[in-house]
Amino acid sequence: MSDIKYKRIVLKVSGEALAGTDGFGIKPPIISKLADQLKEVTALGVQVAIVCGGGNIWRGETGAELGMERSQADYMGMLATVMNALALQDSLEHEDVPTRVQTSIEMRQIAEPYIRRKAIRHLEKGRVVIFAGGTGNPYFSTDTTAALRAAEIDADVILMAKNNVDGVYSADPKTNPDAKKYDELTQLDIINKNLKVMDSTASSLSMDTDIPLVVFNMNEPGNIKRVVQGEKIGTTIQG
Ligand code: UDP
Repeated sequence: MSDIKYKRIVLKVSGEALAGTDGFGIKPPIISKLADQLKEVTALGVQVAIVCGGGNIWRGETGAELGMERSQADYMGMLATVMNALALQDSLEHEDVPTRVQTSIEMRQIAEPYIRRKAIRHLEKGRVVIFAGGTGNPYFSTDTTAALRAAEIDADVILMAKNNVDGVYSADPKTNPDAKKYDELTQLDIINKNLKVMDSTASSLSMDTDIPLVVFNMNEPGNIKRVVQGEKIGTTIQG
């Protein structure tokens, strides 16, 4: 463990990151590549918790824009995160990585309810814990969930896994050739520069909890290992 910088991590995987290029649904080959990387870091003794997004299936905001009651639409979004969590669990188990899914909304037939102490115990035993269902409250996001769970389980870092984007840029690098990549930022920079890293609730919670955040490209094999070993890739954001 001597060459490990971050011993307990929260990996935030957005729904989009599981969906591939079309941005919709679940693509098992992508999840399986992620599982390979996670197997690699758990083998180093790193404790891994994952927060799954759900935007590849459903976003509450979209439902609300189409006339749905916002909370109802958000609960649908929370359920979407559970589907992603089960897909990720399946993939990790194919790699013989022990896992537990914990949901913020009880679904006892398919997952454990979220119990902080139990989650920590699983991590100590080398099990990957997948947090599903977001915070369990409408009007929140899974970015906020990542910031919250990271604080609750005393994680060393939050890793924001991105789909083919290798950090935070001043503008969208896909459309603006002048976009500049930042190596280091603070949460205050994110809010002041209005950078699209996480929503403002998640940013302000991260600022309070002071847990660093690394935004990196998860599609590059070995990148999760590079981050936990302290290699400077992506963008690091301090609280
Ligand atoms: N959601 C929610 N409360 C939470 C987390 C998520 O209501 O604590 C809902 C919300 O509708 C959101 C959806 O779940 O649009 C999917 O989560 P998110 O948008 O954070 O997923 P991602 O963008 O990471 O794929």
